[in-house]
Formats: sequence, C-alpha cells, structure tokens
Amino acid sequence: MARRDYYEVLGVSRGATPDEIKKAYRKLAMEFHPDRNKGDAAAEEKFKEVGEAYAVLSDQNKRAQYDRFGNVQGGGAGPRPGQGGSFEFDLSDALRQFMDGGMFGDFFGQQRGGRGGSTRVRGNDLQLKLSLTLEEISEGVRKTIKVKRFRPCTTCSGTGSAAGSAPQECPTCRGQGQVRQVSKTILGQFVNIQTCPQCHGEGRVVSNPCKTCDGDGRTRTEDTIHVDVPAGVSSGHYLTLRGEGHSGPRNGPAGDLIALIDEKEHEYFERDGDNVIYKLSVSIPQLLLGASVEVPTLSGRAQLKIEPGMTPGKLLRMRGKGLPSVNGYGRGDQLVEIELHVPKKLSSSEKEMIEKLSNSDNFKVQANDKGFFARVKEALGQ
Ligand SMILES: [Zn+2]
Ligand SMILES: [Zn+2]
Repeated sequence: MARRDYYEVLGVSRGATPDEIKKAYRKLAMEFHPDRNKGDAAAEEKFKEVGEAYAVLSDQNKRAQYDRFGNVQGGGAGPRPGQGGSFEFDLSDALRQFMDGGMFGDFFGQQRGGRGGSTRVRGNDLQLKLSLTLEEISEGVRKTIKVKRFRPCTTCSGTGSAAGSAPQECPTCRGQGQVRQVSKTILGQFVNIQTCPQCHGEGRVVSNPCKTCDGDGRTRTEDTIHVDVPAGVSSGHYLTLRGEGHSGPRNGPAGDLIALIDEKEHEYFERDGDNVIYKLSVSIPQLLLGASVEVPTLSGRAQLKIEPGMTPGKLLRMRGKGLPSVNGYGRGDQLVEIELHVPKKLSSSEKEMIEKLSNSDNFKVQANDKGFFARVKEALGQ
C-alpha cells in the first residue's frame, strides 16, 4: 500500500528546480484533468496523485521534510488518496502533527491504528473560469471573485454535532472507518476491506445533529476571494488554490479551487505566444513620405516611425512591447503589420491630383511597359 514517490509521480529528478516541478505538474494536471477524462477513474486517481505530489514538492518546507522523511503516511490498512473516490489523508495536517509532535513512533502509531480522526472526507474541488484581458495578462492581476461553496457551519464549528454533544464511535465499524467482508470460495478465503457505509470512513457518527447544518458540519456560503494571476498566462492554464474549494463534511479537509484562465478577445491585438500582432492602416502619402504615427500597445500609446518608401505587408517590430513570458524570462514584441489604406471614394480635385501624379516620372511603372515577347527577344539579343 505504499504510496508512489512524489518525484516519480511528477517525472522529475530529486534535484528538480521549483520551475521544473511546476512545469511537470502543469503538464500532467492538464493531461489527467477530469474534464478531459470524463468518467475515467484511473485518470482521476492520477490527477489527485499529481496534485498531492505537487502540493508537497512545491512547498519548500514540505519538500524538505519529504526529502528527509519520505512518505508521511500510515502504514496499515488506512485509506489513501483516491481510494474510494473522496477520501484523503490530510497531508498538511499530518506534516504539522509530525513536526509538532516530533515523534516518529507516535505519529505512525496513530496512523496505523486507522482510528477515526485521520480519515476525514475531503471536500470537492471547485472549478471556475477567470476571464482576463490581454492588459491584465500583460501585467499580472489580482482578481476578486465570488465563490459559492460549502464551508464549515459556524453554529457547530464544523463538527456537525449540536452544542453539548459529541460524535460517537460508529457502531457499524466500531470506529475503524472500514468494514471487512470475508467471502469463502473454492479458491480460498477472500477478505474484502471496504469503507464503512455508515460513517463513510470517519469512524464516528453524529448522535445529536446540529440544527443549522443537519449534522453535515457545512453550510452553503458565498465568499469573496482574491486570485493573484501571474503575468503571461494564457487560455488553458490553471491556477490551483489549495483548500479554497468545498470544505469536507465535519471538518474534513477542503478541496481546491481550480481557476481556468480564459483570455478575452482584444479589440486591436492578436496574440501569438508572447508576441502581439497589430495591423496598422497607412495612407499612400504616409508610405511615400514617411511618418510618425501613434499606435496602441499593451502599456499605452507609443510612436512608430514609418520610413519613406515603405511597402505594404512589411512587419515592424516594437521590441519588448509584447507579453511577459509566464516563466519570468523577458518579454515578447509587438509586431506591426503595415496595411495600405486605399480610399473607396475620391473627390474630383483628388482625382485630378492623382492623375497628375500618375503621369509624373517616378509613378510610371517601368518594368512591364515592353511586351513579353519584346523582352524575350531582347534577352536573346535579337
Ligand atoms: Zn452545524
Ligand atoms: Zn463506520
């Protein structure tokens, strides 16, 4: 029943940098995300496993402890993450206990017993979409959002029991949280261990339920929370806010809040990785004479120089005016594509001027004035 090594789960070396760990986690979390693998229990298991590995390895302290002590978990028949769907050994609690108690034996002894307290039902994850403008992505942003979720009942402090009463040992499993079923077949005797159907693994049952939450230990709330979005993210990225999902019943650990980044379409810009593309319409006189024009950028307006004689289709690069790399290395550019603005209508005086211009020497197209055959003859020296 040993848990898999967290480094192995994420596919990184023991010396992996926080960045490498983050990258590996993101890739795997995307791959095994329940949304992409509907109804696939193996993928869900994997998703949780990856999330758990990341929770530990992304936290400097937890990682250091993990490196020193390895998997912190009960050795016996206690439930482990993923098993039976919604049970999770609360790792952060375990680590705290480990540190506070400072005692190996106590810790493992307690877990091995598989007694009530350590096997609480974890709350579900919450998922929501975060719509962001390119400007917000460019700078990074703190978003304030409203979240509807289950949180601990304030009447009973999440215990589920009415004032003055305490939960009692579950009569079905006698506090073990599990029931054993022995079946005899011609091949021998099989022992099947299942999560207790009465207490759902908690080992205790509420004898006198709190009136507010009906013994669940949770009530529906609407909370305002802040999400700090790093600069450079793009659609498809996730932010995982640990413990900001639904609380578990009767003070079970909370699930996570998963914020899915959704990039809003921009009025002017198209995104290409860390670069942004802007199409600039330029008049014929501006192309001919050159000009300094004002263009929008993600950080305000900026001047752009059009050199005299520039041709349509040219791509101008405004260095560093793109989006920052999500990994924190540098910024992309703004690419300005020059388009020719051709007026649909001309006034009679404009027509007159253009006609005059078209007869002037520099506006006569020289290349094609001889016929094809004439040029071939010339080339052949005839
Ligand atoms: Zn309550
Ligand atoms: Zn039970």
